[in-house]
Amino acid sequence: MAAPLLLSTYLLLLPLGQAALPVVINTWPFKNAAAAAWNTLQSGGSVLDAVEKGCALCEVEQCDGTVGYGGSPDETGETTLDAMIMNGDTMEVGAVANLRRIKNAIGVARAVMERTDQTMLVGESASVFAEDMGFIAEDLTTIKSTNIFSNWLKGNCQPNYRKNVVPDPSKSCGPYKPSVALKQSNRTRHANTNSHDTIGIIALDQDGHVAAGTSTNGLTHKVPGRVGDSPVIGAGAYADRSAGAAAATGDGDIMMCFLPSYLAVELMRAGADPSTACEAAISRIKRHYPQFFGAIICANTTGHYGAACNKAPTLSQFHYMVSTSETNTPVQKSVNCF
Ligand code: ASP
Repeated sequence: MAAPLLLSTYLLLLPLGQAALPVVINTWPFKNAAAAAWNTLQSGGSVLDAVEKGCALCEVEQCDGTVGYGGSPDETGETTLDAMIMNGDTMEVGAVANLRRIKNAIGVARAVMERTDQTMLVGESASVFAEDMGFIAEDLTTIKSTNIFSNWLKGNCQPNYRKNVVPDPSKSCGPYKPSVALKQSNRTRHANTNSHDTIGIIALDQDGHVAAGTSTNGLTHKVPGRVGDSPVIGAGAYADRSAGAAAATGDGDIMMCFLPSYLAVELMRAGADPSTACEAAISRIKRHYPQFFGAIICANTTGHYGAACNKAPTLSQFHYMVSTSETNTPVQKSVNCF
């Protein structure tokens, strides 16, 4: 009886942001996905299993409409998915981008890692691979995504992500051709918390195994073929058992240029605590894009964790889930954006 008492005393003494291993953290208050990941780990699954099961539940439940089928239709009305999974022990990654017709993107990402020597498959070829591996091909369109798409068409295709084309993309639908003049403009984002989100999960077990992964349907009204940051290694997520793990969410076209997950993990390797590492990764982007929409979660090898977000018109506080032995159930945490 002495050991459990000692353990609970120890856990009660832990300050905020510190957890004993194992720990599972995910972006946004996706509670069921958090529970799926945590329960997987608790019932003997690996950290990779935990990441996969958590992301997969979000794909089924269409978390916020921003993960899985039926969300974020592109300019043609199609939903396509991005996902990745990283084994922080072996540094292997499996990723899929612009995946069509397959609901279980994280499952396909894991199959890329485990059933090929490749790292990332994209588009139609990724779907063919998935079908060959036994994943079912089905239409990812729903009534909701059809409505989003038809309202967008009725509103002259606003907003969209085109520039330097004719007809004027701020007023008209395509098809577009390049305009003669190239106007310099900063990347604009149609900041709307409902137009994008990603589940990113990082899982560390008590033996020091580390994994990270993401799944998303990207950005509403994206240009067909657009791939966000989520499946990009070091951008959407990164894991290294010698340093920790991180996962990001937000304006993928901006964030992927800064590899925030990689940066945060490297800062933790250099000794930064997870909150500081997360803040530094956000600050790096903020320097160039003060208004960008984005957040990141970080955990180091001892189970300390943290998060940070950029203060934007639609984001003042970022919510994420943390599961530890202390509570044995996911607990929602919040961080004020800066
Ligand atoms: N990062 C994702 C993307 O840009 C969406 C999000 O997390 O908000 O595709």
